[in-house]
Amino acid sequence: MYTCSLERMKDKIKTFSTFGDAGHGGITRYSLSPAAIQARNEFIRRMKAIGAEIETDDVANIYATLPGSDPAAKRIVMASHVDSVKNGGNYDGILGVMSAMEALETVASEKIPHRHPLTAMIWTNEEGSLYPPAMMCSGIVCYDYLPEDIAQKFKYEDMLNSKSILDNKSTFGEALEASGFKGERKNRISPEKYQYMFETHIEQGPILEDEGCDVGVVDCVLGMFNYRVRFYGQTVHAGTFPMKKRRDAFYAASQALCWLHEEIDRLGVPELVYTTGEVVCHPCVHTCVPDYFDFSIDARHEDPKVLEKVLAIVKSCADREWAGCRCEVVKAWNRDTVYWDKKLVGYVKSAAEGLGVSHRYIHSGAGHDAQFASYMLPTTMIFVQSKGGLSHCEPEYSTPEHCTEGASVMLNAVLRADQD
Ligand SMILES: [Zn+2]
Repeated sequence: MYTCSLERMKDKIKTFSTFGDAGHGGITRYSLSPAAIQARNEFIRRMKAIGAEIETDDVANIYATLPGSDPAAKRIVMASHVDSVKNGGNYDGILGVMSAMEALETVASEKIPHRHPLTAMIWTNEEGSLYPPAMMCSGIVCYDYLPEDIAQKFKYEDMLNSKSILDNKSTFGEALEASGFKGERKNRISPEKYQYMFETHIEQGPILEDEGCDVGVVDCVLGMFNYRVRFYGQTVHAGTFPMKKRRDAFYAASQALCWLHEEIDRLGVPELVYTTGEVVCHPCVHTCVPDYFDFSIDARHEDPKVLEKVLAIVKSCADREWAGCRCEVVKAWNRDTVYWDKKLVGYVKSAAEGLGVSHRYIHSGAGHDAQFASYMLPTTMIFVQSKGGLSHCEPEYSTPEHCTEGASVMLNAVLRADQD
């Protein structure tokens, strides 16, 4: 068993936290922004220092590769992202990149023999927080392997035209050209050149901490659905129209949302999570009774049968009348549970056991680039405990010890996979 260096990991955490430092403990590092380019350059500098060969593909994904002893063997890749959400933390995404770097640095410094070439990789634009959608470049690169309904959301031309949320004008394609990181399509990760993919990531939830586990052996990304529940009423004047005669779409929606929570909770399903995070209100003026209200509902669970039951409840909203308003339920999108490769999950578990790192199996509730990669290559993930379960916010934190353990678990799992 090999262990990664706590001191080197601490140094990386400190250095990468400066790129996009927002001044109060976290970062804003949009994909291909000057801050992200600093992080990319630092990655390249450190990887060149250990003799890795650097390549970029046509959507600016970066690959740093140490050759193996067998020139015919396919690459094993460890990948994550350097971009963040607005006012995000110092660990989401970048921990996976730092762990991949740390694994390669350990291989180089300890001269660990390996047959396959080993690659550390940066995916471009995972968060999609400046140029939507999320997981854009894994969507583009894995396009031919994705289920059709997912693939159609990641057409290359559409992605290049994705507009900045800041000015609604400049495009991802322009940022790509200007970045200096646009390389060749032939360098894309593919099943012809790559054998396995690993991604280390913070948990982004409280389960590992609550159970006193340092590392999570991730077995799947949860299936989910995302629907819109819409209410149609009538706008009238807030001062002149009697309460009894109103058809207030906001009031209708609030009643329906409370009812949904009661009905879904009545199912009593452990590990089910559901969220209303986005609303639209029209005309959204304080002197007007709203004639339209629309809320999202996102539900996630491993078992499709559970999701079917929840969906039946959501859909039944449309059969009822809510404060005199008509209700409509419309599908936004859904995805099935994506299971990681069982053999690789086993390698991760054995690595954690061999190193004596406390661990448990865990599902991923969030989407990751690894999820799209898994349609193309055998793939798996390792989670590192998140303090307080916080993420996508500035207080996001994982201890350097836990980060280093995560990297060591990945390194040993990769070295086991290298024997295949
Ligand atoms: Zn992430």
